[in-house]
Amino acid sequence: MPAPGVQGSLPCSEHGCERHDAVACAYVDRRRRPCPTAWCPDHQILVSGLPHCRRHARITASAASDEFQGGQALPDLENRSPSLADYVGDALEPRILDFLVGLRRPGSYDQVAAEPVHVIHPTAGGARRWDRTWKLYDHTGVQAKVSVEVDESRDPEVLVRVGRHVVSQAVPPWIERRRQGLPPLAPSDDSAQRERFYAALWEPAIGPLLADLEESRGLPSGSLPR
Ligand SMILES: [Zn+2]
Ligand SMILES: [Zn+2]
Repeated sequence: MPAPGVQGSLPCSEHGCERHDAVACAYVDRRRRPCPTAWCPDHQILVSGLPHCRRHARITASAASDEFQGGQALPDLENRSPSLADYVGDALEPRILDFLVGLRRPGSYDQVAAEPVHVIHPTAGGARRWDRTWKLYDHTGVQAKVSVEVDESRDPEVLVRVGRHVVSQAVPPWIERRRQGLPPLAPSDDSAQRERFYAALWEPAIGPLLADLEESRGLPSGSLPR
């Protein structure tokens, strides 16, 4: 059963939050300097059970991914799928976290968790998939879950799933250009094109995430603002 957040006695660093039961962000940098922020149960993000600020949740989740979680099969050196899933996951993570954090009910057990990249071996056989997952949950379980995924047999296509359902899929435009032998775009065109790619992956997930949340909270369909 997931923990109902971690409580302490510090003022919360979230702008406008009045709570005084915050815990310091668990991040400590290479020079052993701790992050100076603290977050109440409504505003902390748990990574491996420890509270983090938004920025350090992201860094900690991707640092943990370098180890590929101990017992899991390490990817072959030439296997791009895990790093592609991780890279696109990093790019989408700020908007996913902002969205999920915004859907927590104040004073509830709602928590947002980010999981580092991990491998999925389909039980029915077939290609491995590499996946980054974010979820909103409480003491009763997962309310909504979104994943960024690369299936080794479909690489370089990137998929977004809400629950088990694929809601969007696209090949990164910079990889597509390379495949076609086209030169890289100018930096400003490249970043605009990347932004369109990320938006095309993320935006179709919003409706299904809200629908899953309404269902798990027993709310009428369409009651959460779209
Ligand atoms: Zn707070
Ligand atoms: Zn921090």
